[in-house]
Amino acid sequence: MQVNIPLKQVIDNSYSITIDQLPQIELDTKVAIVTNPKVAGLHLSYLLSKISVKELYIITVPDGEEYKNQASIDTILESLFNHRFNRKSMLIAFGGGVIGDMVGYAASIYQRGIDFIQIPTTLLSQVDASVGGKTGMNNKYGKNLVGAFHQPKAVYIDPHFLTTLPSREFGAGVAEIVKMAVTFNKEFFEYLETADLKDPKVLQEAIKQAVETKASVVAQDEKERGLRAALNYGHTFGHVIENETQYKTYLHGEAVAIGIIMANQLAIKLGLMSEDEALRVENVFKKYNLPTNYAISNTETFYETFFLDKKSSDANITFILADGIGGVKMLDDIAKETVVSVLAQFGA
Ligand code: NAD
Ligand code: MG
Repeated sequence: MQVNIPLKQVIDNSYSITIDQLPQIELDTKVAIVTNPKVAGLHLSYLLSKISVKELYIITVPDGEEYKNQASIDTILESLFNHRFNRKSMLIAFGGGVIGDMVGYAASIYQRGIDFIQIPTTLLSQVDASVGGKTGMNNKYGKNLVGAFHQPKAVYIDPHFLTTLPSREFGAGVAEIVKMAVTFNKEFFEYLETADLKDPKVLQEAIKQAVETKASVVAQDEKERGLRAALNYGHTFGHVIENETQYKTYLHGEAVAIGIIMANQLAIKLGLMSEDEALRVENVFKKYNLPTNYAISNTETFYETFFLDKKSSDANITFILADGIGGVKMLDDIAKETVVSVLAQFGA
């Protein structure tokens, strides 16, 4: 299944996304596969059986979000220098979103930018992180604060990798799929309501729809000056939840699921969504054992924490709300009292 991203109009770098069994990859250049020990242990031999290149190196970095940092970038860059990679060389990101973000960033700065390919192996990275060209890493000031827009040469999405994914990680990816369906595609959401994503055929179809949705949003606003920000639906609330729980209790996608539930309550309050629609979204989350509730101990503190998010620049927080199912509104003038009254519904 081939999805062509119509990025040509906005950047001179359109590329294709393949959602299917990994094809034979032949490259007449020096290549480094960057991965982590977990993904390598599970799937590297399969990838190697599919790849034929001029000269191949494997670079491993430690597994985990806490390693999405400058030290890992340095590990990657040093290896490239030691093996005399040049501007024609190529990187392959082989892993989840953490690997994808770092490899994309390393590729964007090595000798002012070299090509890279994304081979995402988690559901979240297949439907979200590998598409759209955002790359980056974390530092002590926060997450994803350093990075670049650097589009991959190609993205190969092979759902077969997901057979080894732990179910919570699977659910986290589902939350991001639901995010895209609710805000941009009513029919897709209705499909998700009845479909079982554990069925490989259904899963492949859902990945395709999610990727197409994300690709079309990115094609309209690559650098996130407008519409692309709508992909942060559920994230404004989700980031506060992650922050309050020190990133320990919930996976990102799980926090986003709760964040979507909260955003929907705000949308109900503002007359954008019906109670029934919010319930339908919640029911999809429940099918995949995603959390749908969070006890807010202090609504004032929760509200103040919105301002820590880099995406809300100054006094105004932009809330991304579903406008019914299949629509989205970005509002930056919602009264604090309105928001706090919704937060109070989630009181401890
Ligand atoms: P992750 O990369 O940490 O992967 C989650 C866990 O699953 C890791 O332990 C990983 O080693 C393991 N894993 C990977 N593939 C596996 C497989 N096939 N079987 C078993 N285990 C496997 O996390 P993620 O959820 O994939 O990605 C999250 C990251 O993506 C965050 O850093 C986030 O900022 C980033 N992200 C980026 C974008 C973007 O547009 N660039 C979008 C969304 C998220
Ligand atoms: Mg997200």
